[in-house]
Amino acid sequence: MPISPLRVWEKLQYTAQWGRLEMGEHVGLCRESLTDSDREVRDWFVEEAKDIGCEVKVDKMGNIFAILPGRNNKLAPIGMGSHLDSQPAGGRFDGALGVIAALQVLRAVKESGVLTNAPLAAINWTNEEGSRFPRMCTGSGVWSGAEDVASSHALTDLANPSITLGSELKRIGYLGTTPCSYRENPLSAHFELHIEQGPRLEKSRQKLAVVSGVQGMRAYEVRCQGSGGHAGAVPMSQRADALAALATFVVKVEELARREDAFGTVGVIETDTSSPNTVPGRAFCTLDLRHHDEETLDTIEKELNAHLSGLERDRPGITVSMIKTRHKESIEFDPEASLCLQRAMMSTVNESLVSKLESYAGHDSAETALVIPTTMLFIPSKNGISHNPAEFSFEEDCEIGAQTLLQAVINYDAFLEGRIANNITRVYDVS
Ligand SMILES: [Zn+2]
Repeated sequence: MPISPLRVWEKLQYTAQWGRLEMGEHVGLCRESLTDSDREVRDWFVEEAKDIGCEVKVDKMGNIFAILPGRNNKLAPIGMGSHLDSQPAGGRFDGALGVIAALQVLRAVKESGVLTNAPLAAINWTNEEGSRFPRMCTGSGVWSGAEDVASSHALTDLANPSITLGSELKRIGYLGTTPCSYRENPLSAHFELHIEQGPRLEKSRQKLAVVSGVQGMRAYEVRCQGSGGHAGAVPMSQRADALAALATFVVKVEELARREDAFGTVGVIETDTSSPNTVPGRAFCTLDLRHHDEETLDTIEKELNAHLSGLERDRPGITVSMIKTRHKESIEFDPEASLCLQRAMMSTVNESLVSKLESYAGHDSAETALVIPTTMLFIPSKNGISHNPAEFSFEEDCEIGAQTLLQAVINYDAFLEGRIANNITRVYDVS
């Protein structure tokens, strides 16, 4: 397939006018999901897709599918997706790179005159960031069946509880009619180009990474009940200080996370009175645990529960509860899709410039991986910075990433055609 420059950089800079955010010397984005600036960039996406010659579908979660026909249009499209929404003070590359590169791949395929066997699709997933409506990867999560449409439509804007995700979809004209479901609107696979959002590639001076998977994440709420009182009157020997008890838990989290080489974070602590001269009678904290191995997370969870039981035993008057509010299992990406991606990398860069990394952050691909063959590639992030206007990736790296994405889907198309020719079927279609 003839390869001409994909000009991803130019389009990235052009579309950054919608939600443009200047902060000192940096230009970032404030393009939260389903705001007016998100509508503007979505309108641009649809216009571009139509200009390329794509069929455009919008589903009930506002996910947009731009589909370029192939020779066999009974096959589910090979998808390339990411997100056009950003954090309130985010960068120009997180998400946008993957969507714009996908569109440019479709344009290049169309202009080359090559007709793929399966159709190809560029996808913009709704509300990946979860900063305005607090559920990350909402669109891809519903599509893969992990979440449902009704509860997602009911999510409220953190800054204005009278606004819901559903009402905003309607307001900006992106409440589509296509079912939001991998069963009713299927894809053969999902490829995602993304910036690394960390410093590993830059440090190793490598250009591309095959992403092996996404680490597992668990969130908890811990509540401690003791008894309050006057800071100068309740004798130390008779106290049931809820915060002093909870503080030992915070230290235990750090100790276990270090021992197991995991990530453990207590990001919020609250007490009932929040007064400098009152013994806290109630204390609350959150916990965020991450690791690629579910067994390790189980071990940490078990030891933390044991620690909390120990608190109740050793500290009279203290009772504790820990409830899990979120459990995202770790994901390993599909070996065959990843092989197609690795082969593509060999055609765009020298082998020594290719690395294999696990993703520390969540992505739409972690959702699609639950139901279809999925893989991801990373390009370097300057200084490892993301979710900040200082986020930056070089033009050359964006172009290499897009060229690799193009070659990867071409490889996957050939792989899929071979499978069909040899009558090897796989459970793409779960209905
Ligand atoms: Zn992202």
